[in-house]
Amino acid sequence: MQFTYDPQNVFARILRGEIPNKTVFENDWALAFHDINPQAPVHVMVIPKGPYVSLDHFARDGTAQEHLGFMRAVAATCDLLGVQDGFRAIANSRDHAHQEVPHYHLHILAGRPLGPMLVPVKG
Ligand code: AMP
Repeated sequence: MQFTYDPQNVFARILRGEIPNKTVFENDWALAFHDINPQAPVHVMVIPKGPYVSLDHFARDGTAQEHLGFMRAVAATCDLLGVQDGFRAIANSRDHAHQEVPHYHLHILAGRPLGPMLVPVKG
């Protein structure tokens, strides 16, 4: 699979400081910030700082340090958000998942019962 990163995507612009964000947590490898159009009482995005299009791109080409730094950022973000009653993490990837922003991001959703993950496939 060929991954082509667009450096003008909105999250790349957030990382360069060209667009403001409401930061929850930041380390050397990742940034967590509130979604501009929340779908739940808690809706935060965690993104790597490197130029990765999607989860499978990051998983394949990210370094071990980037992976660790990203996952530690997820842990710190969950801790700061206080999601002890539960949360859902979603990584939409490409067209069938309706990925809108072509920079890998993990949605962290929480703050109420979130319902079923998907509509079941009928028999
Ligand atoms: P996805 O469909 O998984 O690509 O989700 C993209 C998400 O990015 C949506 O939930 C948008 O509301 C969110 N989003 C787009 N622009 C911004 C922004 N400037 N700041 C924060 N979240 C954003």
